[in-house]
Formats: sequence, structure tokens, C-alpha cells
Amino acid sequence: MSREAYQVPSTSGGAYTGSGAPGARDLSLSEGPLMQYICSDCAVKMSLRKNDPIRCKECGGRVLYKERTKRMVQFEAR
Ligand SMILES: [Zn+2]
Repeated sequence: MSREAYQVPSTSGGAYTGSGAPGARDLSLSEGPLMQYICSDCAVKMSLRKNDPIRCKECGGRVLYKERTKRMVQFEAR
């Protein structure tokens, strides 16, 4: 009976090393989801993020279709 040999797992420590795998960063979370848009004027496809200006990179038009939804989404320039 050697009770002294038994080591109780300490719960007072803050050295938790069981973190997740490093390098598993999701870039889409920091940059926002990438959406496909189609210009209504020149029908060029472009990928825009949430923070990007809704504007055609080819003709400068501000009427863009969202490619995923079939509905037309119009953005009026101010
Ligand atoms: Zn265009």
C-alpha cells in the first residue's frame, strides 16, 4: 500500500497542450465567402467578397447577378 506513489492528476495547471492541429486556419472566415457574380451588361464573371465593391471590373457596371441564385440582385450605385 504505497499511497504516496500514486500521483493525482493536477487540475490546477493551465498548461493545456491538447490544442488542435496547427495550420488548420480557415481563410474564408477572415476574408469572407467568395461569391460569383455575373455582370448584366457584359456578362463577365467575377468573384467578389462581402467587403468588395459591387462593380464590374470590365465595364464598371453596377448591376450584377449573383450566380448561385437565379434571382436578379440589383445594386444601385449611390
Ligand atoms: Zn460588365
